[in-house]
Amino acid sequence: MREIRLHNTLTGKTEPFVPLHPGEVRIYTCGPTVYDYAHIGNFRTFIFQDVLRRFFEAQGYRVNQVMNLTDVDDRIIAKAAAAGVTIREYTEKYAQEFFADCKVLGLEPPERWVRATDHIDDMVELIGRLQKRSFTYSSDGSIYFRIAKFPGYGKLSKIDLTGIQAGARVDVDRYEKENARDFALWKAPKPGEHFWETRIGPGRPGWHIECSAMAMKYLGETLDIHSGGVDLAFPHHENEIAQSEAATGKPFVRYWLHAEHLLLESEKMSKSAGNFYTLRDLFAMGHKPSSLRFLLASVPYRRQLNFTMDGLQQAASSVERLRNFAQRLAEAKFPPAKRGEERAVQKLAERSAEEFDAGLADDLNTAQALAAVFELVREANIAMDRGELRQEDVAPAKAVLDKFERVFALIKDDDATRLAELGLGAAPDGPSDAEIEALVAQRQAARKRRDFTEADRIRQQLAESGILIEDTRDGGVRWRRK
Ligand code: AMP
Ligand code: ZN
Repeated sequence: MREIRLHNTLTGKTEPFVPLHPGEVRIYTCGPTVYDYAHIGNFRTFIFQDVLRRFFEAQGYRVNQVMNLTDVDDRIIAKAAAAGVTIREYTEKYAQEFFADCKVLGLEPPERWVRATDHIDDMVELIGRLQKRSFTYSSDGSIYFRIAKFPGYGKLSKIDLTGIQAGARVDVDRYEKENARDFALWKAPKPGEHFWETRIGPGRPGWHIECSAMAMKYLGETLDIHSGGVDLAFPHHENEIAQSEAATGKPFVRYWLHAEHLLLESEKMSKSAGNFYTLRDLFAMGHKPSSLRFLLASVPYRRQLNFTMDGLQQAASSVERLRNFAQRLAEAKFPPAKRGEERAVQKLAERSAEEFDAGLADDLNTAQALAAVFELVREANIAMDRGELRQEDVAPAKAVLDKFERVFALIKDDDATRLAELGLGAAPDGPSDAEIEALVAQRQAARKRRDFTEADRIRQQLAESGILIEDTRDGGVRWRRK
């Protein structure tokens, strides 16, 4: 197997990945808090995680990925109480919308989705273990983790602990960077809000404990990879390490991966700041899922990505370029190579395949992987235009596209179908892809029997539904929606 190198936040280094169980990679990814629609910044991180798992699969690993839905936290409990519905009723809508968004963006489902509220017992059990080992104390009905008892605290985020006051507590889950404090594992009930009656007392879990409990339950006490956006490194992941390692005495995670943020006009896209787009916002403006998927995947995950409408347009034309190339390659007929003829495209395709994998193996350098593919597209298009492409070049070029497709999943042109299927964006009024293909084939047949009146009629019919067809020099046809 090819060596895959990943940047590990824990060590601060890019290291060769060695799985704990040969041939298998166990990944825990922090999922969305389902109190609202996810925004495209969240999807930057989720797409990075999708590229990660797809590349491992393409390299022959068995992937076991667990992703959680945070369906209980202070905001959810307060919103559900205000709406007079149960937590499950409140979050179900956003959980379903999230699954729909993942599907429309072509995210491969993880092996397991897990919900925090289905794992209250596991969290209680883990808190019980921490109590037994004296890592906790109670105060006003809440239970806190005593970070002064865990000397490794700070090793992930490198937070400076010199100013820490023993016993200084924090009750909110999401706090700012400057200062580490004892955090709540279990929170006392608030009047009028939902709580669970458990053997550690009535209340509700703090945010961090869910991920420790669920990750260890499904992936073992030590997992290969844990990831999320950079904002999660502190306090969320730091606290996860403390809770898990204090309970088990074993390393919790071998490789911590953090995606840099997506920015909108140079500000972090976030719901609380009110500067965000959801997928639906963009689809309503007429953008395609594939454009967004390309844009989010194209910038390597450890670089910030500044989102602009221009960037999204450019992504759309990159996808178009790839799709046209794939179609040209699939449909055209090329002559066999002549004896002794220079085989530049074939050689380039072999080099592209190698560079594609090498790029991704280098801490998921998607920019390098894409550059390798686009170089091939450019050179092979030139060769086709000049009539210099040969039969023997086709298979190696297609092999590069296949590699690309396994990880990036963008060549298959089903944007309209996906949007329609999920009831997102405007349903296409026109014919489906399959109907168009059938008409195009009928038109080709008409041309073959030299029935040009019929061929023109079909072209006209397609044009009226907004489908443009273009006859290629090599006798093939390409079509696209206007
Ligand atoms: P949340 O729903 O806030 O728990 O976030 C879900 C995931 O999205 C986490 O991994 C966050 O780190 C990530 N995330 C939040 N905002 C952004 C952003 N602007 N860019 C990239 N990732 C983000
Ligand atoms: Zn988490």
